[in-house]
Amino acid sequence: MTAEPLWLFADQLGPHVHSTDEHRDREVVLVESTRVLRKKRFHRQKLHLVLSGLRHLAAELGDRATYLRTDTYREALERVGRPVVVHEPTSHAALRFVERLRKEGLVAEILPTPTFALPRADFEEWAGDRETFRMEDFYRSQRRRFDVLMEGGEPVGTWNLDHENREPPPRGKRTLGVEPPWQPPEDEIDEQVRADLDALDLPTIGRDGPRWFAVTADEARRALAHFVEFRLPHFGPQEDAMLHDDWPMAHSLLSVPLNLGLLHPLDVAREAESAFHRGDVALASAEGFVRQVLGWREYMWHLYWHFGPDYLHRNALRAHTPLPDWWTSLDADAVTAACLRSALEGVRDRGWTHHIQRLMVLGNHALQRGYQPRALSDWFREAFVDGFEWVMPTNVIGMSQHADGGLLATKPYAAGGAYINRMSDHCGRCPFDPRKRLGDDACPFTAGYWAWVRRHRELLAANNRTARAVASMGRLADLDAVLEQESAREVF
Ligand SMILES: Cc1cc2nc3c(=O)[nH]c(=O)nc-3n(C[C@H](O)[C@H](O)[C@H](O)COP(=O)(O)OP(=O)(O)OC[C@H]3O[C@@H](n4cnc5c(N)ncnc54)[C@H](O)[C@@H]3O)c2cc1C
Ligand code: SF4
Repeated sequence: MTAEPLWLFADQLGPHVHSTDEHRDREVVLVESTRVLRKKRFHRQKLHLVLSGLRHLAAELGDRATYLRTDTYREALERVGRPVVVHEPTSHAALRFVERLRKEGLVAEILPTPTFALPRADFEEWAGDRETFRMEDFYRSQRRRFDVLMEGGEPVGTWNLDHENREPPPRGKRTLGVEPPWQPPEDEIDEQVRADLDALDLPTIGRDGPRWFAVTADEARRALAHFVEFRLPHFGPQEDAMLHDDWPMAHSLLSVPLNLGLLHPLDVAREAESAFHRGDVALASAEGFVRQVLGWREYMWHLYWHFGPDYLHRNALRAHTPLPDWWTSLDADAVTAACLRSALEGVRDRGWTHHIQRLMVLGNHALQRGYQPRALSDWFREAFVDGFEWVMPTNVIGMSQHADGGLLATKPYAAGGAYINRMSDHCGRCPFDPRKRLGDDACPFTAGYWAWVRRHRELLAANNRTARAVASMGRLADLDAVLEQESAREVF
């Protein structure tokens, strides 16, 4: 093989990265860097997925792969002995790093990232000199550009069926009753990864457990096919709902294979579109899913680059509370609030919870209690199996904590217990009462909400989407007592 070897990061593992016409004859370099594994307290299952993905690809590529276990990436590249080509990595820091390596001659060329649908330059053209961003505008431009769920330049049906997708969970049911997600069979590579992780004795968090997520291209295709056939027909209506006994609900669990670069987002969106055209799924389900993959995911990716590295340090609400130990160590047993406990159990046991638990339980709690946004963003990245550098700032700093002052979302995602009660079955099994804001059984979300509104009353009063909350707060006769209670609260 004469062409330069192709160096792949652990989120570039799919055939659309390494086996295109341009690369199929290249040697592939895969690196397991102990320093990277040790750098943070990652979830044990996250480390497992990354190592399992790298090692499975090495086995799949056989003689084409050079697999190096070194302390640092640099050491590995020096061992390769000739310059490599690499695709743009997915974070500001990693991009700066490979640019340095190029100057030093260890990297010959940096190629564009092939793991997203829209090229970065095209996003910049779309963004132009916009100062405010609306996902809906971007999403429509994506639908048009990639011709997904379109008919003669117009959307099939209507652009947006989100209003059909906000149903509470079905009454009296403990689960949605949807076919469980596809689970990959583990093999000897997983066994070896487990043994190696035990031996390395890394500073991990969370419990080890069975592998739930695809780490090879073949597994990812199977997970996608299974989702489209059995679960996509149920995706959508209860997208925002939570049930204690149903951790995956009708979600796809595809964020891991997507973020490992095993599936291309456009292929994923097209599978959903085809299922709609075959008459297998309703438009609301197909559109709802395409909106996530081609809309939200791509939007977050591009805004990561567009907003730049300083965005991560934004703290518009001046939130400075350090994350408590029970939170960082995923000690769900220390939590009394049923909704919060259930979400934290999900993170502890699987390194994954669905979107609404991330946004309206974990994120909502952190927002109300003023957790430091940057520390929270790091926590989400380390504790979630699908957490990668690029996906955190816009989701955590922007959407969930409003720390960007409203650049991304027009209003903060803060809500009291009434919302959680409507959208879940948690409150029925909780010692707190979602209607109470005062007393031993006062719901920490309900009382916490009012304390938060009070703290940010000026900002909220100036926004016509939140001004009503400030007016309602003004009518609470017991507000002072609620504030006192919440500032002393130790039990969540
Ligand atoms: C506070 C917070 C933290 C988050 N952290 C992550 C994270 O670390 N990694 C991650 O991939 N997503 C993250 N998300 C977005 C979203 O919650 C997850 O992508 C989703 O829950 C993954 O489960 P799923 O694959 O079953 O998703 P589904 O509900 O089946 O959605 C389909 C796909 O859409 C994509 N998607 C939807 N919304 C988003 C979004 N806002 N940002 C990026 N992709 C999106 C994902 O690739 C997902 O697989 C976060 C959201 C919030 C509010
Ligand atoms: S009562 Fe409050 S703390 Fe308990 S589950 Fe409901 S919202 Fe969560």
